[in-house]
Amino acid sequence: MSLKENYHTIKSQLPDHIQLVAVSKTHPVAAIQEVYDLGQRVFGENKVQELVEKYPLLPKDIRWHLIGHLQTNKVKYIAGFVDTIQSVDSEKLLKEISKEAGKHNRTIKVLLQVKIAEEESKFGLEITEAKDLFQQYLTGKFPHLEITGLMGMATFTENEDQIRKEFSVLKKVFDDLNSIKKLETLSMGMSDDFPVAIECGANSVRVGSAIFGRRDYSK
Ligand SMILES: *Cc1c(COP(=O)(O)O)cnc(C)c1O
Repeated sequence: MSLKENYHTIKSQLPDHIQLVAVSKTHPVAAIQEVYDLGQRVFGENKVQELVEKYPLLPKDIRWHLIGHLQTNKVKYIAGFVDTIQSVDSEKLLKEISKEAGKHNRTIKVLLQVKIAEEESKFGLEITEAKDLFQQYLTGKFPHLEITGLMGMATFTENEDQIRKEFSVLKKVFDDLNSIKKLETLSMGMSDDFPVAIECGANSVRVGSAIFGRRDYSK
């Protein structure tokens, strides 16, 4: 299928209130431009260097989301333009993002990434850590960022019950924090599991391969 067909197929499966983050990692600028020309404005990349290379070559009204693990010393490279950092999993990172955003007179939106998968390899905060950081944020400790929600990744498995269980855990955390201070974004679901994520309460999904096609893992 063409990019256009893929894109419209995905869009047709998303209710209007669901934000689509088109995950363009490993895909060329021309493909991103093509999806942009179909109307998409929110794109996600998982590596700072790749994002920094692509950013100047694409329209300036794209809202870039960083969705991959971020090292503190790389925040400065994206702080001037990134819209949202979805993968924040430490106090150190919150501090650095706020500091660097301040230098640019900006407020960067941040999602706390919470570990919900059974798998060991996934990054993310424990639920108690996420709640603790949120409380710290509420004291005004990180003035140049706004925590707008949570992000999570389910275990990579065919077992839909397990995926559902993991997403539901994150929805519960979201509801808890949302009752303290209004949040906007619950980011869960990728190409293979976004329908389940939406059923479990996601309002933002990160879809890559279902739009852009398979990634070349040799790169
Ligand atoms: C790559 C990636 C996605 C998109 O994955 P697909 O299976 O290609 O849709 C979503 N979220 C994160 C954090 C990713 O790294």
